[in-house]
Amino acid sequence: MFATGSENLGPYQWRILARRIEELTADSEVDGVVVTHGTDTLEEAAFFLDLVCKPKKPVVLTAAMRPSTALSADGPANIFQAVLAATSPQLQSHGLLVVMNGLVIPGWQIIKTDSVALDSFHAYPGGPIGKIVGESLLLFGSPNLSPLVGRFHNHLRNDDELPFVDIVLLRAGCGDQPLADFEGNACKGLVVAGFGGGTMPDNLNRIVAETANSGCTVVVSSRVSKVTVLAETMTPVKSKKVFPSGLLNPQKSALLLSLALDANLDALEISELFNVFVIQ
Ligand code: ASP
Repeated sequence: MFATGSENLGPYQWRILARRIEELTADSEVDGVVVTHGTDTLEEAAFFLDLVCKPKKPVVLTAAMRPSTALSADGPANIFQAVLAATSPQLQSHGLLVVMNGLVIPGWQIIKTDSVALDSFHAYPGGPIGKIVGESLLLFGSPNLSPLVGRFHNHLRNDDELPFVDIVLLRAGCGDQPLADFEGNACKGLVVAGFGGGTMPDNLNRIVAETANSGCTVVVSSRVSKVTVLAETMTPVKSKKVFPSGLLNPQKSALLLSLALDANLDALEISELFNVFVIQ
């Protein structure tokens, strides 16, 4: 549909893709759908599609870490494995999946962990639900559907742009600068990629609270690759409009927050969305 690198794609294109997926999966002639996508924003695409689609047939995203001109390019095998998965009746109720490098991973959990390695894609939280060996699909257990699968299905009826949610990534010694621009601006949503479990310097904790008081919803996430940010691990004080991202990385948090703001959910409803990924 979009013959371009995935660095050029975002929610606008993914909504068009989602509508096409819905159309195809409603067609009785179609057993399943395979989407080829660039690796660079695959994790956001899969997370977004999982939030807006309600497929009743297998939908499988795949990609390639090596270009088609490389020795041992991985694209052809990945496409073969993705088609195998998409035509497997056993994957009927597993939601949207990513199949790459012989692994079957729930789409909402996929993260890119390496810029070049063939085994760049991992499931977080959780693990693969199956693997492909030769021409056989081996499933390890029951479906691992996202607790929010299809939660924003109504978004497919809209044509408006999603509200912009910014991500600010902190670095050691950054002072107030990263958040200075947010005080009093019109941004409705902000994700701060803090340190470790969502920590940030004292001054920034204060600015986060002020930013939220001015009407901006702030989600605290982390710059680590496998994120766990809870109210008790982050340093900004949790409040109605400042809450932790749980297990979601900054880019997935920003997508979820913009869909939630677009759906006019209130602050409590939005914080509960982030909570559903953690059972305490
Ligand atoms: N920049 C490319 C993309 O994400 C890299 C790739 O295809 O994996 O589209």
